[in-house]
Amino acid sequence: MFSKSRSTGMHRLWLVAVLLAGLPLYACAADDSACTGSGIALQVLGSGGPIADDGRASSGYLVWIDGKSRYLIDAGGGVFLRFAEAGGNFSELDFIGISHFHADHSADLVALLKSGNFANRGRKLPISGPAGDGPFPGLQDYLNSLLGSEYGAYRYLSGYLDGKGRLPLLDQLEVDLSRNEAVTVLTDADSVVRIDALYVPHGIVPAIAFRIQIGDESIVFASDQNGSSEEFIDFARAATVLVMHMPVPEGVTGAGRKLHAPPSVIGDIAAQADVGQLVLSHFMARSLRDLDGNVALVRSRFDGPILSANDLDCVTVGQDD
Ligand SMILES: [Zn+2]
Repeated sequence: MFSKSRSTGMHRLWLVAVLLAGLPLYACAADDSACTGSGIALQVLGSGGPIADDGRASSGYLVWIDGKSRYLIDAGGGVFLRFAEAGGNFSELDFIGISHFHADHSADLVALLKSGNFANRGRKLPISGPAGDGPFPGLQDYLNSLLGSEYGAYRYLSGYLDGKGRLPLLDQLEVDLSRNEAVTVLTDADSVVRIDALYVPHGIVPAIAFRIQIGDESIVFASDQNGSSEEFIDFARAATVLVMHMPVPEGVTGAGRKLHAPPSVIGDIAAQADVGQLVLSHFMARSLRDLDGNVALVRSRFDGPILSANDLDCVTVGQDD
Protein backbone atom coordinates (compact mmCIF):
# COMPACT_ATOMS: atom_id res chain seq x y z
CA MET A 1 0.00 0.00 0.00
CA PHE A 2 2.76 2.44 0.90
CA SER A 3 4.75 1.80 -2.26
CA LYS A 4 1.63 2.50 -4.31
CA SER A 5 1.19 5.87 -2.59
CA ARG A 6 4.86 6.74 -3.20
CA SER A 7 4.79 5.68 -6.80
CA THR A 8 1.74 7.89 -7.34
CA GLY A 9 3.82 10.74 -5.96
CA MET A 10 6.64 9.95 -8.35
CA HIS A 11 4.25 9.91 -11.28
CA ARG A 12 2.96 13.34 -10.31
CA LEU A 13 6.51 14.59 -10.11
CA TRP A 14 7.30 13.34 -13.59
CA LEU A 15 4.08 14.82 -14.89
CA VAL A 16 5.30 18.20 -13.67
CA ALA A 17 8.58 17.50 -15.45
CA VAL A 18 6.80 16.73 -18.71
CA LEU A 19 4.62 19.80 -18.50
CA LEU A 20 7.62 21.99 -17.87
CA ALA A 21 9.66 20.55 -20.72
CA GLY A 22 11.70 23.29 -22.30
CA LEU A 23 12.34 25.06 -19.01
CA PRO A 24 15.50 24.39 -17.01
CA LEU A 25 14.35 21.61 -14.73
CA TYR A 26 15.96 20.48 -11.53
CA ALA A 27 13.39 18.24 -9.94
CA CYS A 28 14.37 16.38 -6.84
CA ALA A 29 12.82 13.02 -6.28
CA ALA A 30 11.63 11.33 -3.16
CA ASP A 31 13.86 8.36 -2.39
CA ASP A 32 11.86 5.49 -0.97
CA SER A 33 14.75 3.87 0.85
CA ALA A 34 16.42 6.98 2.31
CA CYS A 35 14.50 7.00 5.58
CA THR A 36 15.41 3.51 6.66
CA GLY A 37 18.99 3.63 5.40
CA SER A 38 22.10 5.40 6.61
CA GLY A 39 22.56 9.16 6.68
CA ILE A 40 20.05 11.95 7.24
CA ALA A 41 16.59 11.93 5.71
CA LEU A 42 13.42 13.98 5.90
CA GLN A 43 10.06 12.27 5.70
CA VAL A 44 6.88 14.19 4.99
CA LEU A 45 4.22 12.65 7.21
CA GLY A 46 1.52 15.09 6.24
CA SER A 47 1.52 17.27 3.11
CA GLY A 48 -2.07 18.49 3.39
CA GLY A 49 -3.94 21.38 4.92
CA PRO A 50 -6.72 21.98 7.44
CA ILE A 51 -9.66 20.82 5.32
CA ALA A 52 -10.48 17.11 5.06
CA ASP A 53 -10.85 17.22 1.29
CA ASP A 54 -7.37 16.68 -0.10
CA GLY A 55 -6.71 13.04 0.83
CA ARG A 56 -3.62 14.07 2.75
CA ALA A 57 -2.67 14.20 6.40
CA SER A 58 -2.24 17.67 7.91
CA SER A 59 1.20 19.03 8.77
CA GLY A 60 3.89 16.70 10.10
CA TYR A 61 7.55 15.86 9.39
CA LEU A 62 9.96 13.26 10.68
CA VAL A 63 13.75 13.53 10.52
CA TRP A 64 15.66 10.28 10.39
CA ILE A 65 19.32 9.70 11.20
CA ASP A 66 20.81 6.32 10.32
CA GLY A 67 17.39 4.71 10.22
CA LYS A 68 16.21 6.11 13.56
CA SER A 69 13.21 8.46 13.82
CA ARG A 70 14.76 11.28 15.87
CA TYR A 71 12.88 14.58 15.39
CA LEU A 72 9.19 15.23 14.85
CA ILE A 73 7.98 18.63 13.65
CA ASP A 74 4.24 19.23 13.91
CA ALA A 75 1.50 16.71 14.60
CA GLY A 76 -1.62 17.70 12.66
CA GLY A 77 -4.56 15.40 12.04
CA GLY A 78 -3.50 12.18 10.34
CA VAL A 79 0.11 12.36 11.51
CA PHE A 80 -0.57 9.63 14.09
CA LEU A 81 -1.37 7.20 11.27
CA ARG A 82 1.42 8.38 8.98
CA PHE A 83 3.95 8.09 11.85
CA ALA A 84 3.04 4.41 12.11
CA GLU A 85 3.07 3.89 8.33
CA ALA A 86 6.52 5.49 8.18
CA GLY A 87 7.79 3.05 10.81
CA GLY A 88 8.41 5.80 13.36
CA ASN A 89 9.36 4.71 16.87
CA PHE A 90 8.29 6.85 19.82
CA SER A 91 11.22 5.64 21.92
CA GLU A 92 13.68 6.97 19.36
CA LEU A 93 12.31 10.52 19.37
CA ASP A 94 14.74 13.12 20.74
CA PHE A 95 12.51 16.15 20.16
CA ILE A 96 9.01 17.25 19.21
CA GLY A 97 8.50 20.74 17.81
CA ILE A 98 5.03 22.23 17.35
CA SER A 99 5.17 25.26 15.08
CA HIS A 100 1.83 26.73 16.21
CA PHE A 101 -1.49 25.75 17.70
CA HIS A 102 -3.71 25.70 14.67
CA ALA A 103 -5.41 22.29 14.82
CA ASP A 104 -3.86 21.12 11.57
CA HIS A 105 -0.43 21.33 13.20
CA SER A 106 -1.14 20.01 16.67
CA ALA A 107 -4.34 17.94 16.92
CA ASP A 108 -2.66 14.51 16.80
CA LEU A 109 -0.04 15.29 19.45
CA VAL A 110 -2.02 13.71 22.26
CA ALA A 111 -2.74 10.63 20.13
CA LEU A 112 0.99 10.17 19.63
CA LEU A 113 1.59 10.69 23.34
CA LYS A 114 -0.98 8.03 24.12
CA SER A 115 0.86 5.73 21.75
CA GLY A 116 4.07 6.56 23.63
CA ASN A 117 2.35 5.34 26.79
CA PHE A 118 3.18 1.85 25.53
CA ALA A 119 6.75 2.62 24.48
CA ASN A 120 8.34 1.86 27.87
CA ARG A 121 10.43 4.95 27.49
CA GLY A 122 12.31 6.26 30.51
CA ARG A 123 14.22 9.29 29.29
CA LYS A 124 12.68 12.74 29.07
CA LEU A 125 11.22 13.96 25.81
CA PRO A 126 12.10 17.57 24.89
CA ILE A 127 9.20 19.46 23.31
CA SER A 128 9.07 23.03 22.08
CA GLY A 129 6.39 25.40 20.81
CA PRO A 130 5.53 29.09 20.81
CA ALA A 131 4.29 31.18 23.72
CA GLY A 132 0.61 32.05 23.54
CA ASP A 133 -1.20 35.22 22.50
CA GLY A 134 -4.85 36.20 22.09
CA PRO A 135 -7.03 33.17 21.37
CA PHE A 136 -4.03 30.87 21.00
CA PRO A 137 -2.46 29.03 23.92
CA GLY A 138 1.25 28.71 24.43
CA LEU A 139 2.90 25.31 24.66
CA GLN A 140 2.51 25.02 28.42
CA ASP A 141 -1.18 26.01 28.44
CA TYR A 142 -1.85 23.66 25.54
CA LEU A 143 -0.24 20.73 27.32
CA ASN A 144 -1.95 21.60 30.60
CA SER A 145 -5.33 21.71 28.87
CA LEU A 146 -4.74 18.17 27.64
CA LEU A 147 -2.64 16.55 30.35
CA GLY A 148 -3.02 18.64 33.53
CA SER A 149 -3.69 16.36 36.50
CA GLU A 150 -6.72 18.34 37.70
CA TYR A 151 -8.59 19.62 34.65
CA GLY A 152 -6.77 18.17 31.65
CA ALA A 153 -9.03 16.42 29.16
CA TYR A 154 -6.67 13.43 29.17
CA ARG A 155 -5.52 13.74 32.78
CA TYR A 156 -5.00 9.99 32.91
CA LEU A 157 -1.82 10.81 30.95
CA SER A 158 -0.71 13.54 33.41
CA GLY A 159 2.49 11.59 34.02
CA TYR A 160 3.84 13.36 30.95
CA LEU A 161 3.82 16.55 33.02
CA ASP A 162 5.05 15.20 36.35
CA GLY A 163 6.95 12.02 35.41
CA LYS A 164 4.62 9.79 37.39
CA GLY A 165 2.88 6.65 36.15
CA ARG A 166 5.94 5.44 34.25
CA LEU A 167 5.42 8.07 31.59
CA PRO A 168 8.38 10.03 30.21
CA LEU A 169 8.47 13.62 31.38
CA LEU A 170 7.95 16.22 28.66
CA ASP A 171 10.83 18.66 28.93
CA GLN A 172 9.03 21.81 27.82
CA LEU A 173 10.65 24.82 26.20
CA GLU A 174 8.22 27.58 25.26
CA VAL A 175 9.64 30.09 22.78
CA ASP A 176 9.20 33.75 23.74
CA LEU A 177 8.06 35.55 20.60
CA SER A 178 8.82 39.05 21.88
CA ARG A 179 12.44 38.48 20.84
CA ASN A 180 12.57 38.44 17.07
CA GLU A 181 15.75 36.41 16.97
CA ALA A 182 16.63 32.75 16.82
CA VAL A 183 16.45 30.76 20.05
CA THR A 184 18.27 27.47 20.53
CA VAL A 185 15.76 24.93 21.82
CA LEU A 186 17.88 21.77 21.76
CA THR A 187 21.56 20.90 21.72
CA ASP A 188 22.69 17.32 22.00
CA ALA A 189 25.47 16.23 24.35
CA ASP A 190 28.18 16.08 21.69
CA SER A 191 27.01 19.28 19.94
CA VAL A 192 26.44 17.56 16.61
CA VAL A 193 22.76 18.49 16.56
CA ARG A 194 21.29 21.89 17.31
CA ILE A 195 17.68 22.98 16.88
CA ASP A 196 16.82 26.67 16.69
CA ALA A 197 13.43 28.37 16.55
CA LEU A 198 12.41 31.76 15.14
CA TYR A 199 9.14 33.69 15.17
CA VAL A 200 7.43 33.79 11.77
CA PRO A 201 4.48 36.06 10.79
CA HIS A 202 1.26 34.04 10.44
CA GLY A 203 -1.59 36.50 10.91
CA ILE A 204 -2.42 36.80 14.59
CA VAL A 205 -1.25 33.26 15.29
CA PRO A 206 1.95 32.90 17.31
CA ALA A 207 4.10 30.68 15.11
CA ILE A 208 7.72 29.54 14.92
CA ALA A 209 9.98 28.03 12.31
CA PHE A 210 12.52 25.38 13.25
CA ARG A 211 16.03 24.83 11.94
CA ILE A 212 17.58 21.44 12.65
CA GLN A 213 21.34 21.51 12.14
CA ILE A 214 22.99 18.08 12.01
CA GLY A 215 26.71 18.50 11.45
CA ASP A 216 27.08 20.30 8.13
CA GLU A 217 23.52 19.57 7.00
CA SER A 218 20.42 21.48 7.94
CA ILE A 219 16.68 21.32 7.46
CA VAL A 220 14.52 24.41 7.91
CA PHE A 221 10.79 24.06 8.53
CA ALA A 222 9.23 27.39 7.60
CA SER A 223 5.86 26.63 9.23
CA ASP A 224 2.82 28.56 8.07
CA GLN A 225 3.92 32.12 7.38
CA ASN A 226 3.21 35.02 5.02
CA GLY A 227 6.82 35.37 3.92
CA SER A 228 7.37 38.94 5.16
CA SER A 229 10.14 38.24 7.68
CA GLU A 230 13.64 39.44 6.74
CA GLU A 231 14.95 37.54 9.74
CA PHE A 232 13.63 34.31 8.31
CA ILE A 233 15.83 34.69 5.22
CA ASP A 234 18.90 34.69 7.47
CA PHE A 235 17.47 31.88 9.56
CA ALA A 236 17.07 29.69 6.46
CA ARG A 237 20.37 30.76 4.90
CA ALA A 238 22.15 27.97 2.98
CA ALA A 239 19.94 25.25 4.45
CA THR A 240 20.41 21.88 2.82
CA VAL A 241 16.62 21.54 2.63
CA LEU A 242 13.94 24.20 3.14
CA VAL A 243 10.36 23.04 3.70
CA MET A 244 7.80 25.69 2.81
CA HIS A 245 4.03 25.58 2.93
CA MET A 246 2.00 26.40 -0.18
CA PRO A 247 -1.69 26.32 0.74
CA VAL A 248 -2.63 29.35 -1.36
CA PRO A 249 -2.26 30.20 -5.07
CA GLU A 250 -0.76 33.35 -6.58
CA GLY A 251 -3.01 36.38 -6.29
CA VAL A 252 -4.45 35.41 -2.92
CA THR A 253 -5.76 38.40 -0.96
CA GLY A 254 -7.29 39.18 2.42
CA ALA A 255 -6.91 36.78 5.34
CA GLY A 256 -5.27 34.14 3.15
CA ARG A 257 -2.45 36.55 2.27
CA LYS A 258 -2.00 37.67 5.88
CA LEU A 259 -1.51 34.03 6.83
CA HIS A 260 0.38 32.53 3.90
CA ALA A 261 2.99 33.19 1.21
CA PRO A 262 1.97 32.77 -2.44
CA PRO A 263 4.20 30.74 -4.80
CA SER A 264 6.27 33.67 -6.09
CA VAL A 265 7.15 34.74 -2.54
CA ILE A 266 8.09 31.16 -1.65
CA GLY A 267 10.40 31.09 -4.65
CA ASP A 268 11.96 34.43 -3.72
CA ILE A 269 12.63 33.25 -0.16
CA ALA A 270 14.27 30.03 -1.33
CA ALA A 271 16.42 32.00 -3.79
CA GLN A 272 17.39 34.74 -1.33
CA ALA A 273 18.23 32.20 1.36
CA ASP A 274 20.24 30.26 -1.23
CA VAL A 275 18.99 26.89 -0.01
CA GLY A 276 20.12 23.64 -1.58
CA GLN A 277 16.69 22.14 -2.10
CA LEU A 278 13.08 23.20 -1.65
CA VAL A 279 10.26 20.95 -0.47
CA LEU A 280 6.75 22.30 -1.05
CA SER A 281 4.07 20.97 1.29
CA HIS A 282 0.89 21.80 3.25
CA PHE A 283 -1.27 22.03 0.14
CA MET A 284 -4.95 22.82 0.10
CA ALA A 285 -7.47 22.24 -2.69
CA ARG A 286 -7.03 25.86 -3.81
CA SER A 287 -3.28 25.42 -4.36
CA LEU A 288 -3.61 21.88 -5.73
CA ARG A 289 -6.14 22.97 -8.35
CA ASP A 290 -3.30 24.25 -10.54
CA LEU A 291 -0.36 22.69 -8.78
CA ASP A 292 1.79 22.59 -11.90
CA GLY A 293 1.22 26.29 -12.53
CA ASN A 294 1.98 27.15 -8.91
CA VAL A 295 5.16 25.08 -8.91
CA ALA A 296 6.18 26.77 -12.16
CA LEU A 297 5.83 30.16 -10.43
CA VAL A 298 8.11 28.98 -7.62
CA ARG A 299 10.55 27.66 -10.20
CA SER A 300 10.57 31.01 -12.03
CA ARG A 301 12.17 32.52 -8.89
CA PHE A 302 14.23 29.59 -7.54
CA ASP A 303 16.34 27.46 -9.87
CA GLY A 304 17.36 24.71 -7.41
CA PRO A 305 15.71 21.30 -6.99
CA ILE A 306 12.05 21.38 -5.94
CA LEU A 307 9.96 18.53 -4.58
CA SER A 308 6.20 18.88 -4.54
CA ALA A 309 5.58 16.60 -1.58
CA ASN A 310 3.12 13.80 -1.03
CA ASP A 311 2.51 12.05 2.28
CA LEU A 312 5.32 9.66 3.20
CA ASP A 313 7.76 11.06 0.64
CA CYS A 314 11.30 10.66 1.89
CA VAL A 315 14.12 13.01 0.96
CA THR A 316 17.84 12.41 1.42
CA VAL A 317 19.46 15.34 3.20
CA GLY A 318 23.02 15.98 2.01
CA GLN A 319 25.39 13.20 1.10
CA ASP A 320 24.19 9.71 1.90
CA ASP A 321 27.40 7.80 2.51
ZN1 LIG B 1 -1.54 27.81 10.52
